Amino acid sequence: MSTEQDVRLTPQRRAVLDVLAAADDHPTAADVLDRVRAAVPGVGAATVYRTLALLVESGQAAELRLGQGEASRYDRTITQHDHLICDACGRVEDVRAGLRRTDLDDLGAASEFTVTGYDLRIHGRCASCAAAGTPVTRSTHG
Ligand SMILES: [Zn+2]
Ligand SMILES: [Zn+2]
Repeated sequence: MSTEQDVRLTPQRRAVLDVLAAADDHPTAADVLDRVRAAVPGVGAATVYRTLALLVESGQAAELRLGQGEASRYDRTITQHDHLICDACGRVEDVRAGLRRTDLDDLGAASEFTVTGYDLRIHGRCASCAAAGTPVTRSTHG
């Protein structure tokens, strides 16, 4: 593997970056592919998937793994934030749970564990699923 840290912006990569920058819904790679194809018809799936991997590697996007059997989601927001996950429809929303540094330090001290960060996923049902009574059918825990 060549180290290609300077993610050069070919038109296809630019399109992937643009799609991700406009996405506030944590799309899967397949979602990104659909949206890129709407802008750049005929772009190859391999190109899009490889570009997503490069963006994650170079720190321009984050990959969110929700568990066994769930497709990875791609996140344009790379700064610290947490996620609300709807276990009925799979919707993922950004949220700031706001754990305090002192709580983390206490937790670390109590368990003799050096805390370097955290990543919270809060599970439940989104407003539309709750209103529609959509049953929980996914197991995105872990
Ligand atoms: Zn939902
Ligand atoms: Zn996010």
